[in-house]
Amino acid sequence: MRERIVAGNWKMNTTPQEGVKLACAVAEAIASTNWQTRASASSAESRRQTPSSADNVTVVICPPATHLAIIGEAVKSSSVELGAQNVHWADKGAYTSELSSAMLEAVGCKWVIIGHSERRSMFGETDETVNMRLRHIVKTDIRPIVCIGETLDKRQSEQTFAVLEQQLKVGLDGVELVGREGVVIAYEPVWAIGTGLNATPEQAQEAHRFIRGLLSKMYGKDIADNNVIQYGGSMNEKNANELMACQDVDGGLIGGASLRVDKFLPIIKAAYSQ
Ligand code: PEP
Repeated sequence: MRERIVAGNWKMNTTPQEGVKLACAVAEAIASTNWQTRASASSAESRRQTPSSADNVTVVICPPATHLAIIGEAVKSSSVELGAQNVHWADKGAYTSELSSAMLEAVGCKWVIIGHSERRSMFGETDETVNMRLRHIVKTDIRPIVCIGETLDKRQSEQTFAVLEQQLKVGLDGVELVGREGVVIAYEPVWAIGTGLNATPEQAQEAHRFIRGLLSKMYGKDIADNNVIQYGGSMNEKNANELMACQDVDGGLIGGASLRVDKFLPIIKAAYSQ
């Protein structure tokens, strides 16, 4: 059984104080359910073990960088895992405003988002820089969530698969650690992000199946079958169940709905219900 990973990308929202409150509320809400989470078991060794359905869901929150240390402290004894929204590929040096993997690890990050479409469209991220970040991060204990997805233009001109293939092939070039213990892929159609217009389950499944097929060609069927492919793009408490019920959808990367416990919790519940 594949893992299901539900990750909240808070983007540039909340103050540190609001963030601690939200993170604690998410952790407490999960703890008060009878669901079980895989408490902080993200070492490569534990990920390699075959999970049961009960301990197969991981919940991640990715607050702004200014909040990581304080939220890392606040959730460290809970089942919620901490992630960052970006990482640099160098170990250290003259890279004003950037964050290294060692800095992220030091404050308790186990995850990092790489190549989000907002980084690509507004801040010059390319498939090549995604690859540089990825080659670096797979040498650490931080697990990457690599975002790929087509714009509306590309979908309308029937280039979705070509875009996904290019992003995956260049982004993962030379990266060997995929499969259960490695790289998570988030399929995020750009036209669905923050628009309230999610992909239909059919559109999501078609793209996810294509991505898994590509991973299979690149790494072999066993690895592809075990690789988590999240869906992201206006996932909410109403559509999470039907999206996660798709055969190749293994959880979600959630923007807006992760900022409210009452909206995020039903999405987590949907992951447990599959
Ligand atoms: C995202 O930014 O990754 C995202 C999926 O946002 P939203 O859920 O708000 O569409």
